[in-house]
Amino acid sequence: MSKKRVYRFSEGNAQMRELLGGKGANLSEMRSMGLPVPPGFIITTEACIKYYEEGRVISPELEKEVEDALSALEEEMGRKFGDYDNPLLLSVRSGAVVSMPGMMDTVLNLGLNEDTVEGLARRVGDRRFALDCYRRFIQMYGDVVLKVEYNFDDIIEEEKEKRGVSTDVELDEDALQVIIDRFKEVIEKETGEPFPKDPKEQLLKAIRAVFDSWYTPRAQVYRNANNIAHDLGTAVNVQTMVFGNMGDNSGTGVVFTRSPSTGENKLYGEYLINAQGEDVVAGIRTPEDIEKLKEVKPHIYDELTENCRKLESHYKDMQDVEFTIEEGKLYLLQTRNGKRAAAASVKIAVDMAREGIINREEAIMRVKPEELEQLMHRQIDESAKIDPVATGLPASPGAACGKAVFDADTAEQMANEGHEVVLVRTETTPEDIHGMIASEGILTSRGGMTSHAAVVARGMGKPCVTGCEAIKVNTEQEKFEVDGKTVSKGDKITLDGATGNVILGEVPMRDPEISGDFQDILQWADSVREMNVRTNADTPEDSRQAVELGAEGIGLCRTEHMFFAGDRLPVVQDMILAENAEDRKAALDKLLPYQKEDFKGIFKEMAGYPVTIRLLDPPLHEFLPDREELLQELIELRQKGESQELKEKEELWAKVKALNELNPMLGHRGCRLGVVYPEIYEMQVRAIMEAGAELVKEGMEANKIIPEIMIPLVGHERELEILREMTQKVVDQVKEEKGVDIPQLIGTMIELPRACVTADTIAKHADFFSFGTNDLTQTTFGFSRDDAEGKFLQQYMDQNILEQNPFIEVDQDGVGDLVRVAAEKSRDAKPEIKLGVCGEHGGDPSSINFFYKQGLDYVSCSPFRVPVARLSAAQAKLKSGGTSYEQKGES
Ligand code: PEP
Ligand code: MG
Repeated sequence: MSKKRVYRFSEGNAQMRELLGGKGANLSEMRSMGLPVPPGFIITTEACIKYYEEGRVISPELEKEVEDALSALEEEMGRKFGDYDNPLLLSVRSGAVVSMPGMMDTVLNLGLNEDTVEGLARRVGDRRFALDCYRRFIQMYGDVVLKVEYNFDDIIEEEKEKRGVSTDVELDEDALQVIIDRFKEVIEKETGEPFPKDPKEQLLKAIRAVFDSWYTPRAQVYRNANNIAHDLGTAVNVQTMVFGNMGDNSGTGVVFTRSPSTGENKLYGEYLINAQGEDVVAGIRTPEDIEKLKEVKPHIYDELTENCRKLESHYKDMQDVEFTIEEGKLYLLQTRNGKRAAAASVKIAVDMAREGIINREEAIMRVKPEELEQLMHRQIDESAKIDPVATGLPASPGAACGKAVFDADTAEQMANEGHEVVLVRTETTPEDIHGMIASEGILTSRGGMTSHAAVVARGMGKPCVTGCEAIKVNTEQEKFEVDGKTVSKGDKITLDGATGNVILGEVPMRDPEISGDFQDILQWADSVREMNVRTNADTPEDSRQAVELGAEGIGLCRTEHMFFAGDRLPVVQDMILAENAEDRKAALDKLLPYQKEDFKGIFKEMAGYPVTIRLLDPPLHEFLPDREELLQELIELRQKGESQELKEKEELWAKVKALNELNPMLGHRGCRLGVVYPEIYEMQVRAIMEAGAELVKEGMEANKIIPEIMIPLVGHERELEILREMTQKVVDQVKEEKGVDIPQLIGTMIELPRACVTADTIAKHADFFSFGTNDLTQTTFGFSRDDAEGKFLQQYMDQNILEQNPFIEVDQDGVGDLVRVAAEKSRDAKPEIKLGVCGEHGGDPSSINFFYKQGLDYVSCSPFRVPVARLSAAQAKLKSGGTSYEQKGES
């Protein structure tokens, strides 16, 4: 840890983000770029960490460093903090390493008291303005630093009413003085002490308040939701005040250098004339579009545009810029990489690569896999006739439908009960964060495109409509009125975050199309990645969709899903209930045509791509009726007396009892079924090969049909040896009978620890391995994949035993190491063996990165995750510097 805890802007730069926080590092960088930044200094994140370590005290050393930095600032500005004639005023703002919009505290106009306020009045020649600053300061300080729980706005409203005026700007000096006095009275009454006069005391307490705001519940919830570490701490930025509230030639605003919703390359944002800092972000007044600034203050607009262009080419990314205009002079108060909706992220990355600001590899790395996932969100079907009841601002794209709820707690509660909800508020505040997480979408009647609701929803990828002034929200009574209609809690509404439309009731939705920039970035990713991406699909429809999304084959076709289809289940049950091999064979003969048709459909869709078909895997009892329900029926039948139905149910019951296992996932399933009932697997292999042969006879080229027959849950080489022999025999038989030769592979799933550590012996009998990391996670941890998540896994994560749910992100140290061992051993034994993954982890970005490092040939995931996997595979290659495991092995 460095000893120095306070840095002047002139001492910092953008690389010092961890120490200075994002805001401080960028203010320093902007200053060195020669941009108009009001001078100031930064108290480091390390100082914040130390503050907590020392029991929430500001050490004398820190206090001294702050004083020194303040003196330097006074000198630079030619003003003195607390000075009667020419007071220096400060803003004190938080600045975490990772931006957490609206989560932590800010105090503006610090340094005012009844003396300095007169000094300010004289300096600017406007006493009303000075009083306005003072009342804002007391209000913010009372709220943020002194934690006075009082709605100060009520006092303002009362004074406005008394004086018969409707806006704050109409309050004169006299009114403001009364408000100030009343604010102070409230504070003295609530805290037992007068409002602090001493500017130094004000400053130190404000610094403490910012440090303290790091650990507020809302900040913690935000960090949990966004995977931000809790021990980073926040920096504190102390900066010379510039005033956007000095009349009509002043103002404040926020702009994005490109549209954060669509990515369109033009300035995008809002501003308020005669307003101060937080008014825009807080969504208290609905601001003007930045386009308007172009009309009313073209010089300022041009300067702002030029500065934004400089910032973009300097940071090589879209920026979110806060600015203030003080009496016609522009100041920049913050820049950061702008949060953006998923579609914007893709467009900006692709456009910037085309504009030459970044290269294609950088563009690939820019797009987050989760963003592509969001783009797969539903939209309102264009062909649907919609009748919007109101239109607000299109704050975050995607369509959402759910029951209207009016507060965050209810949103959370109803979501936990399984309802889809839309949160409706006048405006959101950081206190609403848990309700926003729980909702499908968010609707507010006030606030702009950069209001809290808009920024947070975009970050979460949730549809959001803000500033929908036509709806009159009554939070107390849990309803809103619009266009003469009332929408109450529980009524369904639909939002379109791309257009701002609000529709009563449900509307048909459609899945998104993948085109344009989305296609481009994925094609660039394809040209970079080495690992193939396949899909897990069991129907021709899923197969087609997956190919459209870029799948290069099927990595797992679960044949049991075909057994569950309605008309087949009775035949499957006959097969299971058969008393002898002959009866079983008869039932299997009936199933064969079904299976053959399934495979034909899939082979057609997957022409030219490999199709890995897994032979039956689940325990047979899964195809029989539920035990408890059956018993209940039996009891009722027994009470009625003898009947044919009772006899049949008794037989069924006997079989269900016989098949019952205490640990079915560790029981008679996978290849163990094939060993005991080879005729089931024989039927399936025959169906696969006959399907191929028939397609060839129907005109399909034999080399476009590429079956890979996969035996599940092998743990011992003998299992595979026996079943491979059986499979090969059927393959040869069909070849002879049909006179068609379809090349095929025979391999196994690796989903047991024993299979991993004996992978060299198993590999002798396998053309390929596919890691079934779902079962491998279950059997390695000994966690039931059906129960662990509901019972105790959350506790494991809360208590930091596990960082992530290992069923979602592969446990690299344990399960992952078994994959590594198996890959190594199998390749030693058989260098040409093909290795893939078909567990859920095949669609998880960080797991994909791990699998790439192990040199696996492909990952396989559900159709909708294929684009994410394509991007992640490319990112894995780029992150590794382009060196795969094999290449490393050679060096
Ligand atoms: C696995 O176990 O990882 C796997 C893909 O098979 P299933 O999920 O069907 O058991
Ligand atoms: Mg499995």
